Amino acid sequence: MFYVKERLNDSMEISIEITDENVFTHCPMCGSEVSVDIGEILSDGESDLYGTAVFCDECSKKVKSGGRYYEHK
Ligand SMILES: [Zn+2]
Repeated sequence: MFYVKERLNDSMEISIEITDENVFTHCPMCGSEVSVDIGEILSDGESDLYGTAVFCDECSKKVKSGGRYYEHK
């Protein structure tokens, strides 16, 4: 599994497992929150966590018919 680790202060640290349900980004077109399937992004061999924008369902439809649209910067 993968998880994110964040140090809150000197004595506290949190670890959160990354699943296909708790990763989000913002749609670059309308700014709404988009749930991201991190496995899907990593599996195409082209996307990465910094240069990939994920469009929401509505904007995906406008940009491309069918399926979630990813943009590689
Ligand atoms: Zn959108």
